[in-house]
Amino acid sequence: MTPVDPAAPYDTQNVFARILRGDLPCDKVYEDDWAFAFNDIAPVAQKHVLVLPKGAYVSWDDFSARASDDEIAGFVRAVGTVARQLDLVEPGYRMICNIGADGGQMVPHLHVHLVGGRMLGAMVA
Ligand code: IMP
Repeated sequence: MTPVDPAAPYDTQNVFARILRGDLPCDKVYEDDWAFAFNDIAPVAQKHVLVLPKGAYVSWDDFSARASDDEIAGFVRAVGTVARQLDLVEPGYRMICNIGADGGQMVPHLHVHLVGGRMLGAMVA
């Protein structure tokens, strides 16, 4: 897979767009008006969930520039709801958002990784 160019137009055929449309299966854990969440296909910890806004946004930059206040608030609240639903809050967890090529983003639909369920090591660059 090629790293994401955050300046590129939104690709309606990207894998997460297809999951959101129901064209591809996923292991769904949460959905509301603003967000959709499913288990990562290659988890790096016991709990590894991806939370996506439902709107067509390539990256955090795209989202923060173009999304409405309702979409932003709805998405941020949904991320917190998913973390609570996964019982991640009390033990702690890591929230990761990869952006663009240098950030290691591979799928060009904004997503936040929620990772936990074990003691995580120090953040490495
Ligand atoms: P990124 O590097 O932040 O873009 O992360 C993309 C993530 O999507 C990776 O952790 C992949 O394992 C995950 N992924 C890719 N395709 C699928 C899928 O079809 N279902 C669930 N997770 C996926």
